[in-house]
Amino acid sequence: MLVVTKFGGSSLSCATQFAKVKKIVEADAKRKIVVVSALGKRDTSDTKITDLLYILHAHLKYGVPYEDIWEMISSRFLKIKSELNLSYDIKSDLNSLEKELNKSIPEDYLVSRGEYLTAKLMSDYLGYTFVDAKDLISFHYDGKIDYALTEKKVRLAFSEYGIMVVPGFYGAYPNGSVKLLSRGGSDVTGSILAKCLNVSLYENWTDVPGILAADPRIIENPKAIKEITYEELRELSYMGANVLHEETVFPVQSLNIPINLKNTNDPEHPGTLIKNVCDDKVDLVTGLAGKKSFVSFNISKNHMSNEVGFLRKALTIFEKYQVSVEHIPSGIDTFSVVVPYSEIEKSQYEIITELKNTLEAEVSLDDDIALLAIVGRNMAGKKGLCGLIFQTLGEEKVNVKLLAQGPSELNIIIGVSQKDYEIALKSLYQKLLA
Ligand code: ADP
Ligand code: ASP
Ligand code: MG
Repeated sequence: MLVVTKFGGSSLSCATQFAKVKKIVEADAKRKIVVVSALGKRDTSDTKITDLLYILHAHLKYGVPYEDIWEMISSRFLKIKSELNLSYDIKSDLNSLEKELNKSIPEDYLVSRGEYLTAKLMSDYLGYTFVDAKDLISFHYDGKIDYALTEKKVRLAFSEYGIMVVPGFYGAYPNGSVKLLSRGGSDVTGSILAKCLNVSLYENWTDVPGILAADPRIIENPKAIKEITYEELRELSYMGANVLHEETVFPVQSLNIPINLKNTNDPEHPGTLIKNVCDDKVDLVTGLAGKKSFVSFNISKNHMSNEVGFLRKALTIFEKYQVSVEHIPSGIDTFSVVVPYSEIEKSQYEIITELKNTLEAEVSLDDDIALLAIVGRNMAGKKGLCGLIFQTLGEEKVNVKLLAQGPSELNIIIGVSQKDYEIALKSLYQKLLA
């Protein structure tokens, strides 16, 4: 039995956190593959090493003095090495990196050094072999993971070393140059390694007692979810519950490898188990999530419903501007296309003009939309839930701008004005989950 064990930046912020990690790893001999993020925040006012590295890169690029930031970065690594009394000569790795700092240092490479150096410290501390992610996680040139090659390399490394620490968040193109995953991507690294070795469990250790039923930055003390399906987690994380990267489930889901989200600061707590099927039928709603900054292109034209191909023509325009569409709520002679604001920031006026000209329709833009997802595997076929949701929002005087429910009835998506987002979330949490 094998376990991939991933620790996030919050579990790796200082020597005390490193000590907790060591205790956890040593408590179970199955924890043979350890994945680490870069050193995270020590407290709320602190800055993650990854963010400092991005800032460092910007300073280098624009030729602004960068010495202070470099000092902040290197001193954090040196402090951990000295506090833990490690033998790894991090000073010389830091010196060589310092020599590479110049205008043209690739951003992905520089930022990946956060995970690289953290993993080197951790491998020394645990007595596990350091295996560089650039020698394992392989990308095709189009940016997709080359699973066949990655699996071959991971299996080979594991059979050679048996116990290893791997830095998360990056891999390499076929020519060896480093490529980052998207932010929070160490979760995905852990999932890829779990898949490649077909382990029995993927543990993801962080700073909360599990997946919480709502964002703890908005809801005070939300309850931790005991069990959740891959699909539910995917819905929640896609809709903003960024405790796990939204791509985390895919690699392990195909092999039905459960993920156990656990709290490094409270290792005895069972955390959340994420798996294919959950039998528990107790809770109607599993959790809530949401995101601000959506816009809706509202399109209307008389007799639109009789015009075959109307929707396709509209969507072709969004495709042309490379905008991925989130929802398309529709009326008889109207429909709206809901997309994240970030996707149309630069092209909104062109899109509106083209929609008007091509469709000969009226087009307006509502740029004040927050989306809220109510997710639950037990919601399907349950009568009265929508009534309860609308009643709750109505009592709080929250106007519902749009509504969408997929055929699986796994989630209900509600669009509200951004100013109503927090109150909508709080009132729904009280009614459905508290
Ligand atoms: P790590 O450093 O371990 O990768 P992250 O910061 O990426 O940790 O994710 C953990 C954080 O996610 C929590 O501290 C919490 O503030 C935030 N979060 C947002 N939504 C949720 C949720 N639904 N459940 C748990 N945590 C959440
Ligand atoms: N350190 C990276 C980030 O801050 C990756 C991760 O934490 O998973 O995004
Ligand atoms: Mg994370």
